[in-house]
Amino acid sequence: MKNHLPMEPLDILKHYFGFDAFRPNQERIIRTVLEGEDSLVLMPTGGGKSLCYQVPALLRDGLTIVISPLIALMKDQVDALRVNGIPAAYLNSALSRSQQDSLIRQIHRNELKLLYLAPERLLASDMHLVGFLKKSNLSLVAVDEAHCISQWGHDFRPDYRMLGQLRNELAGIPFMALTATADRLTRNDIIQRLGLRDPVCSISSFNRPNIHYAVEPKRNSFTRLLRFLEDFRGESGIIYCLSRNSTESLAKKLKAAGYPAEAYHAGLPAEEREARQEKFLKDDLRIIVATIAFGMGIDKSNVRFVVHMDLPRNIEGYYQETGRAGRDGLPGKALLFYSYADVNKLKQFTTIEHNAEQSRILEKKLGQMVQYSNLRTCRRKFLLNYFDEEAPDQCSACDNCLGKYTYIDGTIIAQKALSAVARLNESFGMGYLIDFLRGASSARIRSGHKNLKTFGVGRDLSRETWSGYLEELIVQEYLRKSGHPYPVLKLTPKSRRVLTGGESVTLSARTEPAEAPGNSLPDGATADRQLVDALRRERRRLADREKVPAYIIISDATLRELAARLPSTLEAIRQVPGFGEIKTEKYGPFFRDVIRNYLENCKDE
Ligand code: ADP
Ligand code: ZN
Repeated sequence: MKNHLPMEPLDILKHYFGFDAFRPNQERIIRTVLEGEDSLVLMPTGGGKSLCYQVPALLRDGLTIVISPLIALMKDQVDALRVNGIPAAYLNSALSRSQQDSLIRQIHRNELKLLYLAPERLLASDMHLVGFLKKSNLSLVAVDEAHCISQWGHDFRPDYRMLGQLRNELAGIPFMALTATADRLTRNDIIQRLGLRDPVCSISSFNRPNIHYAVEPKRNSFTRLLRFLEDFRGESGIIYCLSRNSTESLAKKLKAAGYPAEAYHAGLPAEEREARQEKFLKDDLRIIVATIAFGMGIDKSNVRFVVHMDLPRNIEGYYQETGRAGRDGLPGKALLFYSYADVNKLKQFTTIEHNAEQSRILEKKLGQMVQYSNLRTCRRKFLLNYFDEEAPDQCSACDNCLGKYTYIDGTIIAQKALSAVARLNESFGMGYLIDFLRGASSARIRSGHKNLKTFGVGRDLSRETWSGYLEELIVQEYLRKSGHPYPVLKLTPKSRRVLTGGESVTLSARTEPAEAPGNSLPDGATADRQLVDALRRERRRLADREKVPAYIIISDATLRELAARLPSTLEAIRQVPGFGEIKTEKYGPFFRDVIRNYLENCKDE
């Protein structure tokens, strides 16, 4: 589209990407760039950040630089752009010298619209890239995963620090910082460190309404997992484990149980890792059992479930990982298995030597993760509040909103807990208290404590149940945590009323959660399985031909739309969301034929 007709953002959206409308905030951000201003974009994973810089890149003259920490992600994005007929490329250390040179020539000739770069590439002294870019015709610099520049975030990367110089070097060009996770502190830090000038901040809702959240106690978790997976036959998902070993052993057990699963962790040889990731992206491998090394670069839109077998270290990580489900807008499920034992295990990661400040931040973040796991109220509300966002009390799409709590008279339970705290002189933490209440034989328990009257009075309840009750007693202010890095439990004025005044305490007990609204898919649900399979096969064939993952040809959401609308002409296919001009031309006829074929067969019956 090299003519000089004034294009509007909406035209670009329709022409290249095949969508009819912007999502909230996208258009405002795009206009900000067009006016030459800096911006900060906060949007959840799957919210549609990429279009915020891709559309202006196509509207403005010159080249848009996209800085991204992840090579896998770059390749995916560039593939997706090219499939839509947009000239894009990435520059990383995997490219040969001559490939790099030819790229530079393309930039010279003004042929490229978007260039993806890792930060270390940009500032590598051998490339003189900054100097070169200064002389090139740049339209925008977009910094993706911008929270990596801040120590306050959870994913600080030293390479990002150097981006601070860039703002001065490229003074006349608008900058855009994008992230899916940033609390207020991190947000301000990003602005400062990148040197954004009076940026327009756009903060989208972090709510992911199509994701259902659930937490279950980590008991018989493998059996529970198998039951959970039954709902997802043939669908893709990610299962996160804390250690490399557990990813290996779980993948093996799943395979033995008939589920196609492979492990993924940083200890595997790079080729093996890439091969497994590639298979997962191409839908050749349904389930990946991974450490958190997996996923930062995963843009796969049809992930239907994310399971955490172990406790994540912080809400940011958890939210980002669960956010990988349902990026296409179709239902996704997030399940976490929680055990108190994990908390102790994770505590060791929160201590950063010679950095008390950072240690304190990490410890606090772990505490909030525990709080989430023990929550009796709406999980979505907690998550949204965590990211400084208001939310209604009930979401009707998390285990707590769907499940019922029965309220029980918890006075005796509270009395046991509170008197144990008193007996232990208010000087022990939650883990110790639970062991003490349960009369654990653990060597941790001091011998003097084993003779106390309250030792073992709570052995009828599991560790997880106790941990839940204790958290609830803290929320109700019958107990409080004090001190750091190892907080101890202390009594409060309210707790004395329970111990001596006979005040009664109400606690909640959980009944089996009601079945969540199924993961059966809304629109296409009525569509014929046979047709969906045929469309998938066709998509697969085209993807193999183009050597890209299947969802880059068309997303699951687009595929469902095809199955539901049954467009049998190219004109009708053009109306299906996800079919831009290029895709309609290139792939439309193939899908049209599949649908025509299907309609013919229906007539015969
Ligand atoms: P993020 O980078 O914020 O995680 P993406 O940019 O990858 O999210 O977008 C997620 C999905 O939403 C993609 O499949 C994209 O095509 C789709 N999407 C983005 N904007 C729109 C829109 N305006 N209309 C329809 N789909 C959109
Ligand atoms: Zn809820």
